[in-house]
Amino acid sequence: MMAILLLIVCVLLPPRARSAGDRAAKIPQESFGKLPDGREALLYTLRNQRGMEMRVTNYGGIIVSLTAPDKQGHSADIVLGFDSLQGYRDKSPYFGALIGRYGNRIANGEFTLDGKKYKLAQNNGPNSLHGGTKGFDKVLWHSEPFATAHSEGVVFTYTSVNGEEGYPGTLKASVTYTLTDKNELILDYQATTDQATPVNLTQHSYFNLAGQGSGPILGHQLKLDADRFTLVDKTLIPTGELRPVRSTPFDFRKPETIGARINEKNEQLEIAGGYDHNFVLNHKKGSEPSLAARVYEPRTGRVMEVLTTEPGVQFYSGNFLDGTITGKSGHVYGHRSGFCLETQHYPDSPNHPSFPSTILKPGETYRSKTIYRFSAADRLPK
Ligand code: BGC
Repeated sequence: MMAILLLIVCVLLPPRARSAGDRAAKIPQESFGKLPDGREALLYTLRNQRGMEMRVTNYGGIIVSLTAPDKQGHSADIVLGFDSLQGYRDKSPYFGALIGRYGNRIANGEFTLDGKKYKLAQNNGPNSLHGGTKGFDKVLWHSEPFATAHSEGVVFTYTSVNGEEGYPGTLKASVTYTLTDKNELILDYQATTDQATPVNLTQHSYFNLAGQGSGPILGHQLKLDADRFTLVDKTLIPTGELRPVRSTPFDFRKPETIGARINEKNEQLEIAGGYDHNFVLNHKKGSEPSLAARVYEPRTGRVMEVLTTEPGVQFYSGNFLDGTITGKSGHVYGHRSGFCLETQHYPDSPNHPSFPSTILKPGETYRSKTIYRFSAADRLPK
């Protein structure tokens, strides 16, 4: 009798609800190790119907691995990282991590808001970088896996208390990672606050579309939909000038290999030791993400497109990687062996009233969305 009843319920349930439930229940979850205070970090394995697999941990919202097929259908892990939690805790240059409260730099670790001066950790020369000493990349997030009929994901939530890392207001952040059956990784960021505070959340994965540990990324071809970039001073703080890319090595409006001009004599490249700049995206601000960047790796044919609602993207060519980090499967990460495309508001916005504002006020909801979309092609897509 029970069996018949169960059968009837199953048949009556819409297929979408049924398959989503089945899928959620099957998302593997395991321990990724313990923090010194005894709390356990979890590791989730998300899969899509086309064979992509992404492992994420609630420690720092870190993407530990992400596989994508090449033009022959062979999968490889295309993000740099470590095999264990310890690696991420000890020596990670933000591999795969969620960044907050403020992605990128704030000059001299200070800003003034509503007449009050706030002091932040100066953890990058004179500046504050990526949220301070213990940013969102180093906290344990609450995590809930989920599935729909066409995706699997994890919702990460974290409450950053008033005064944490010097920032005002209690900030409630929620970031959803979704791996879809269309080979997309969708990042949905949301936050609310009880006091005005700067917020600039981003994701800091280092990609190598030929496979992590396969050498420099200089042969990747990059297209960026940006007519201008934020000029920086010697400590990588924007001067305020939005410099046209035209006739400079920063012009990626037509696809160019990353390495083609990286060693040219150019003051901005010399300051950063390569590319480490915020590009001002041409697209209009909208609630739906639009195309910001496309990267093509000619040997494997892998393509990554970046769509975002953000006004900027930090293109970082892995200049500070120098072979001193041994990552996954014993791979030594040499100079420029990974690149980042961090979607964001411009660096140091709290000190630049002319830049789009990063101040979140009580009653408002911070919303940001970025999509990394993967495919493979025989030649550079138009
Ligand atoms: C910054 C780089 C920095 C890297 C890792 C990037 O977002 O722009 O200057 O070295 O993060 O810390």
